[in-house]
Amino acid sequence: MNFDLTRQQEMLRDTVRQFADSELAPRALELDERGEFPFDIVKRTGEMGLIGIMTPKEYGGTEMGHLARMVAIEEISRVYPPLGFFFQTCHLGHYSIQNWGTEEQKTKYLPSLCKGEKIICDAITEASGGSDPTTTQTTAQLDGNEFVINGRKVYITLAGVADLACILAKTDDKFNTILVEKGTPGFEIVRRENIAGFRTMPVNELAFTNCRVPKTNLIGQEGRGLGIGLTTISVIGRTGVAGIGLGIARGCYEAALKFAKERKLYGKPITELQAIQFALVDINVDIEAAKWVSYYAAWQIDQGKDLRAIGPDIARAKLVSCELANRVAPKAVQIMGAYGVSEEYHIVRRLKDALQLFPAAGTQEIMKATIGRSIMA
Ligand SMILES: Cc1cc2nc3c(=O)[nH]c(=O)nc-3n(C[C@H](O)[C@H](O)[C@H](O)COP(=O)(O)OP(=O)(O)OC[C@H]3O[C@@H](n4cnc5c(N)ncnc54)[C@H](O)[C@@H]3O)c2cc1C
Repeated sequence: MNFDLTRQQEMLRDTVRQFADSELAPRALELDERGEFPFDIVKRTGEMGLIGIMTPKEYGGTEMGHLARMVAIEEISRVYPPLGFFFQTCHLGHYSIQNWGTEEQKTKYLPSLCKGEKIICDAITEASGGSDPTTTQTTAQLDGNEFVINGRKVYITLAGVADLACILAKTDDKFNTILVEKGTPGFEIVRRENIAGFRTMPVNELAFTNCRVPKTNLIGQEGRGLGIGLTTISVIGRTGVAGIGLGIARGCYEAALKFAKERKLYGKPITELQAIQFALVDINVDIEAAKWVSYYAAWQIDQGKDLRAIGPDIARAKLVSCELANRVAPKAVQIMGAYGVSEEYHIVRRLKDALQLFPAAGTQEIMKATIGRSIMA
């Protein structure tokens, strides 16, 4: 067993940490207050090779793999979780194209997506219930060489700024994954949801009304859409959420530790109060445990393990890291007294982001159902 990151992964971690501390930290509060999508920052991460981190070099990526991706998302989310959520989300579409797309789709879309010049969203959820995508009501009927799409999608991250949507729709009784370009007649962004966290990442409702796209926009084989969607949510969505959860927890922990070392009561730092020390120790141990569960899941993807077989390991990573972030952030608030609830100390901002991790990429109950099926088998 080798638990070391490779030299390349260590260098990546250090570079991203430095980028986050120097370029994201000073702007985090102001970005959230304005709530506008940070195009300049996204472009910068494209130049750094982070957006294309798991895309093959021949399509403009840096091909560093899934563990590297998780480490990068963790480092970014330690400082500014909404940007981690950007990676979690846009990579869903990248992965679908690079894994199941035609050569033409890969060369047409991936290079500009990796540079951050173009953005893609992934639209599966409908009002009928995100946990059960078999209830998808959006249809894509074939008419000659075109799909005619009708239906609505809800809670779709990045849709408001995306140039391309990767959607799940039904053609008769089969599921298909189809690309729809922004500006296609009949495709519109209906509204932006008012979400509590990830303030700079638009989450939107989409509508398709007799929206015609060429049949060549189909991703993968006809009828394989549900499998493509579910595999992508697991491999990309859940590992991404795990990275964000780890990052949020570490950001809160580091802030609380620094505060506790500096805050003096009764003539000495509060770290000398055993209750505070134990609270910090509990968080420290919690983070280490969740980190290894999560890194193990990403590492297995890099090893080319059977994605269906490691589904429960990926679900464990999402489950524990999401719980971790939502346990550590309130604990940090408590350790920091009144300062914990001051926006200036950046804990409440992270807590609001952490809440979004519960439903994102499948709820905690769906993670338990996935793990449950494997242990009861
Ligand atoms: C910030 C944010 C961003 C999102 N971005 C996207 C996106 O980009 N693309 C996209 O397609 N979707 C996106 N979603 C939607 C997300 O995937 C869904 O919210 C999620 O799948 C849950 O679906 P739902 O909200 O319809 O809840 P429901 O499926 O209606 O679930 C309601 C409750 O029932 C529980 N439940 C469901 N099934 C079971 C079961 N088998 N056993 C026990 N309990 C169960 C759930 O855990 C939950 O508590 C996003 C959501 C949020 C909040």
